Amino acid sequence: MIDFSLEKNQIELREKVRDFANRVMKPEARKYDELAEFPWPIVKKAYEEGIMNGPMSPEYGGHGYSILESAISSEELGAGCVGIGICMDASTLALTPLYLGASEEQKKRFFGQINEEKSVAGYALTEPNAGSDVAGIKSNAILHGDKYILNGHKRFITNGSPSSFLTVFALTNSEKGARSLTAFVVPTNSPGVEMVADMRKMGQRASIQTEFKFHDVEIPIKNRIGEEGNGFLLAMRTFDRTRTGVAALSLGNAREAFETAKHWAKNRIQFGKPITVNQGVSFMLADMATEIEAARLITWHAAWAYDNGQKSAGLLSAMSKLYASDVGMRVTTDAVQVMAGDGYSHDYLVEKMMRDAKLCQIYEGTNQIQRLVIGKGILK
Ligand SMILES: Cc1cc2nc3c(=O)[nH]c(=O)nc-3n(C[C@H](O)[C@H](O)[C@H](O)COP(=O)(O)OP(=O)(O)OC[C@H]3O[C@@H](n4cnc5c(N)ncnc54)[C@H](O)[C@@H]3O)c2cc1C
Repeated sequence: MIDFSLEKNQIELREKVRDFANRVMKPEARKYDELAEFPWPIVKKAYEEGIMNGPMSPEYGGHGYSILESAISSEELGAGCVGIGICMDASTLALTPLYLGASEEQKKRFFGQINEEKSVAGYALTEPNAGSDVAGIKSNAILHGDKYILNGHKRFITNGSPSSFLTVFALTNSEKGARSLTAFVVPTNSPGVEMVADMRKMGQRASIQTEFKFHDVEIPIKNRIGEEGNGFLLAMRTFDRTRTGVAALSLGNAREAFETAKHWAKNRIQFGKPITVNQGVSFMLADMATEIEAARLITWHAAWAYDNGQKSAGLLSAMSKLYASDVGMRVTTDAVQVMAGDGYSHDYLVEKMMRDAKLCQIYEGTNQIQRLVIGKGILK
């Protein structure tokens, strides 16, 4: 028997995050979009109200959310503002390799630090010549005595400059290439960490992306996550857990754009009648509502599969990210179309939602890469 009803605690979680999004995020969404500044006051408030670090275990200051509960939370954050929401979810992304592969001592140390400082972390995988092709990473951390010496170059790192530390993926043996990829925790204030520049960009402007150069950065062995060479697997297992989060953020953004356009259209009079009497408009709204529903179903299914240890979880997680972010792009574009001139103006947020939607088709693996993953999965 399939039951789509949420449990009481899941409904309460949705209400709590929805209230936070309505009260704290939405009123500030335009301001941070224009300033392109990290929304520290909102992140601090999210800590105070128990919104941060949801999937982390309560013993480390988290809330022990399942992946389904994380998706429920991320949908509401996406409806509040994807740019602000990703500041919170990207920190979860950075902490996930630790959640999956760190020792108890490391979890206590690093999760403890993040919670105590009420700060964020960044996930540092991408390099100028290694975007989609993770196996092309050249940054290296070579063991010298009791420490690793890190050299290399990372870019597009979300939460970069505001972060307390980065989860950096680097080679421990350049000859072995990606087979030696390993994850390390690197405090951003370590000597030799150069923050080159923050990215200027089109959407999700409340979130910060930083380019880093590492010059002989010393990393103590105790900051290595798991064994040498397990980094590639750890990076991929991380995405299996987190791609449903990108799907859910996209979904929340689409839902908010749809609700804005629907409300506006019901009140917009042309030719003496509300524009919704025209099938050209009502069919667009019908397609938007249908696609949002389908995106939620695939996202919840993927999250359920992960929570229940299903073999298909990784595949479904890629499908949910692909489908929901494509829906996010289509729905926000149509929301602008329904609202026409008003949709295109800064008086409403749908133009921002359309700009924000685009990025969900790019980060955590472009949608072409999701299709590669899905193609491999279904054809093997
Ligand atoms: C705002 C933002 C935030 C980001 N945050 C982070 C972060 O926190 N941490 C992090 O490590 N990275 C982050 N990234 C990096 C992001 O994951 C990469 O941008 C993405 O994986 C694509 O890499 P690329 O931009 O180098 O594009 P490329 O890999 O150069 O791809 C260019 C185009 O070619 C296509 N393509 C490439 N290879 C194939 C193929 N084999 N088959 C079909 N098509 C292909 C791609 O889909 C794309 O359309 C972020 C990026 C952005 C823009």
